[in-house]
Amino acid sequence: MLNIRKFRQSFFIKITILFVLALIFMITFEAGLRDVMLHRRHFSKIQRNVVNYCNYILEDIGTPPDTLLARQLAEEYGISLSITTPEWQWTNNPDINKEKELELIPYEPDTTISVGFHKGLYVDYQRPPYHFRFLMEGRREGFSYAAEIYAIILLSAFALLIFAIYLAMRWMLRPLRELHEGVHQISQGNLEVAVQNRWRDEFGDLIDSFNDMSRKIREMLLARERLLRDVSHELRSPLTRIKIALEFMEPSDTRAAIAEDVKEMETMISEILESERLNSPYGGLKKEKIDIKELLCHVSGEFQDKAPGVKLELPDQPAFALVDPDRFAIVLRNLLSNAFKFSTPQSAPVEMTLSRAGSGWRISVKDYGIGIPEEDLPFIFEPFYRVDKSRNKKSGGYGLGMSIVRQIVERHGGEIRLESTPEQGTEFIIDLPAEVQQ
Ligand code: ADP
Repeated sequence: MLNIRKFRQSFFIKITILFVLALIFMITFEAGLRDVMLHRRHFSKIQRNVVNYCNYILEDIGTPPDTLLARQLAEEYGISLSITTPEWQWTNNPDINKEKELELIPYEPDTTISVGFHKGLYVDYQRPPYHFRFLMEGRREGFSYAAEIYAIILLSAFALLIFAIYLAMRWMLRPLRELHEGVHQISQGNLEVAVQNRWRDEFGDLIDSFNDMSRKIREMLLARERLLRDVSHELRSPLTRIKIALEFMEPSDTRAAIAEDVKEMETMISEILESERLNSPYGGLKKEKIDIKELLCHVSGEFQDKAPGVKLELPDQPAFALVDPDRFAIVLRNLLSNAFKFSTPQSAPVEMTLSRAGSGWRISVKDYGIGIPEEDLPFIFEPFYRVDKSRNKKSGGYGLGMSIVRQIVERHGGEIRLESTPEQGTEFIIDLPAEVQQ
């Protein structure tokens, strides 16, 4: 189907339309010019020659006209001729008097003669009682055939021209296509992109600016990550000191509140550092072949006493997989802690299920809590993304948990996705290959 919007927005198509319009104008112009130049201006000169020519033939035919000689001459010179009187008519071409659009203009030196042009050259003589009419080049194989050839050649030449313009425009707009690819890469999150610049025109400048821009964005993001990592590192020692100092304080509400804040800060710092480690080339996983059933039991045990509780569903046989147990425990812990955080004590228990999926394993963590609005779903795994932008103590968090979960799952060669309905609950599903090479 023709996409009108794309059509209207495409610079390329607009330029092509412009060229086509220019061509149409040229064609009209050419036709008009031919009419003026050939048919009108040269007409007076042609008239004189033609009238002289016809005069000679008329003299030869004589009065009264010798129709036998007329036929002979007409055939010899390749012209059409008709002789008409009120009583009879003779012609070697019955079509000669049928032309309706024929417009005859009197020939100035002798107004008994008139001349006209329509699909051939007409010369009329009023010599009462005779009316002679000559037609030159009126035959199909003559004038009109040449005109058809002319039209075909002209049209083919124009079609070729349009095609050539199309190819030339495509070639000229190549930089735009490459730039488009670069922008697309950036929108997909690939900031390492640099468009190769082979042009020295305005497009070349544009590509240079684009490459500059993507380099600056890259540097800004790196600087932000570096700052975050350095600040987190620096905060660890004072936090440890505060924790030690807290040990010496008398138990009180203030001490409990400070201890809670310190714990929250510790979680945040360890999340930032964990995310940083996973991103760095040295943050390799220490994978071992373990029974992930045991890992699920162990982590879910940490949540056993909390409302609304966990319902564990495990297969009978052991579930061996090659995973980094510490990192994978983080995944399960983050999923469970979110499931609890976004459920109420009255909700149905959180379900944690382990099952076979092809040759690998599927882990699902399903809660019956508040759910996630549809428009937020694509961003849940983005770092620092939270549905509720105003942080409150209860739902805590900085939006790093899910991004770490995804990084760890993907580093294990697995996939994670989620399904959620507001007010009904959320399910996170991890597909993990059974044996992943390190
Ligand atoms: P946070 O530390 O804020 O929990 P996460 O990265 O763990 O950050 O999660 C990002 C956001 O995704 C959360 O703020 C929350 O809005 C949403 N979310 C994650 N898990 C659930 C869930 N089980 N139910 C409802 N919302 C969830």
